[in-house]
Amino acid sequence: MDEPKENDKGVLYVRSICLSCLDKTYSCPYCDGEGKTYIEAADKTVARWIRNLSEERKSVIMKYMIKGFENEEKKK
Ligand SMILES: [Zn+2]
Repeated sequence: MDEPKENDKGVLYVRSICLSCLDKTYSCPYCDGEGKTYIEAADKTVARWIRNLSEERKSVIMKYMIKGFENEEKKK
C-alpha cells in the first residue's frame, strides 16, 4: 500500500444539518440560523459530490486528476 503523501492533510468541508439541533427549533453556537454547520467532508462525500456534477465539470476534474496541473504551472 502506498504511503500517504506528506501533504495529505487537506480537508474539505461540507455544509450539513447540525446534529445537536436536529428536530429542535433553536440554533446552537455551532450552526447558523438554518440549523446547518460545516463538517469535514469524508472522501465518500467528496466522491459523491463529483459523481453528481455535470459531465462537463466531471471531465474537467478527471483531466486535472489524471494529467495534473502542468499547463497551469507553465503559465506562471
Ligand atoms: Zn446547532
